[in-house]
Amino acid sequence: MNFFRYKMNIMLAVMLLISLVFITGCSSANVSSEPITKTTLQFGTIIQITVFDPADEDALNRALNHMAILENELSTTVSKSDISKFNTSAVGEITPLGKHAEKIIDRSLHFTKISNGKFDITIQPLVELWGIGTEFAQVPSQLEIESLLPKVDASKLAFRKSTESAPATLSKTEEGIQIDLGAIAKGYAADEAIRILKEEGVSKALVNLGGNVYALGSKEGFPWKVGVQDPLQSQGSMVGVVEVIDQAVITSGVYERFYEEDGIRYHHILDPDTGHPLNNEILGITIITPSATDGDALSTVIYSLGLEKGMEMVESLDDVEAIFIMRDNTIYVSTGAEKSFDKRSSAFDLYSTATKE
Ligand code: ADP
Ligand code: MG
Repeated sequence: MNFFRYKMNIMLAVMLLISLVFITGCSSANVSSEPITKTTLQFGTIIQITVFDPADEDALNRALNHMAILENELSTTVSKSDISKFNTSAVGEITPLGKHAEKIIDRSLHFTKISNGKFDITIQPLVELWGIGTEFAQVPSQLEIESLLPKVDASKLAFRKSTESAPATLSKTEEGIQIDLGAIAKGYAADEAIRILKEEGVSKALVNLGGNVYALGSKEGFPWKVGVQDPLQSQGSMVGVVEVIDQAVITSGVYERFYEEDGIRYHHILDPDTGHPLNNEILGITIITPSATDGDALSTVIYSLGLEKGMEMVESLDDVEAIFIMRDNTIYVSTGAEKSFDKRSSAFDLYSTATKE
């Protein structure tokens, strides 16, 4: 090889290297031509995020990392979280809140109001006593339940919103008041994942936080099809699908987490008035709404109201639709969900609000 050819080869190699750097440098992120899915465990549940357009891995990673940040601020099982600090605080002691805790508590208090106290984040002492979904699940004595009932009362929270110069704060007016955000935090986290993805320029994505699904954008111009779990079958079997664009589809069922003793099933949505699991004719409820935070809270609120009053509330709220799956193998859908819900199981009869007697 003469020196000239050798020099040419080096120049070609350098040019190739420069163009490669240029190409990868030009693409602003780790974008793939195929959708990317990642799964993690947070909030005691499986979180799955898929980015379709663009299939931007960096955006996906940012959204997933944000889930860990949220858990550290909101979880009762993280000892340094704002919520744990409040739970272990003394009467009158001020706990400063981060912006996420502030937003969730503010919204939770709204749902306490519209549910006449059936939705109440000060449910924590009862959640801990029953332990449903944990290895310590038990049917407590009536005496134990009654001793905790006065501790379940959101009016014993002193909540102050943040100002320009000061963070939001929370304190308790009675000893033993503790909060649990299990009925709303996963929905909030889904909204936050979507917020981050949008910020990163993602326009099509699916976020699933253990039954709290958010469908961002549309699938090649068509609505996403989100499965509604069959409460009587194993995980993954559907009673039907709902078609949505830019909506959260939140399912809460009493079949998911329960404890069985002497043939009786005790599930995880508790009645703040009696201290016992709220029992009614609903097996599962799916809320369809643009805010996953609201959808999550509403799944608990509407369950607590039962079919009649629950449906009334759904019909009275803008941009909120619902599918009720009942113990007697019937399904009721709100007016706005009639078109978007497609029943796929012959084990259930379908009724819409219009046909309900
Ligand atoms: P999941 O999606 O985990 O099934 P839900 O949205 O159905 O959660 O909410 C149930 C959780 O909310 C319970 O596990 C408990 O942490 C909390 N919770 C139970 N009863 C109430 C209530 N009456 N008000 C507010 N939160 C509640
Ligand atoms: Mg909920």
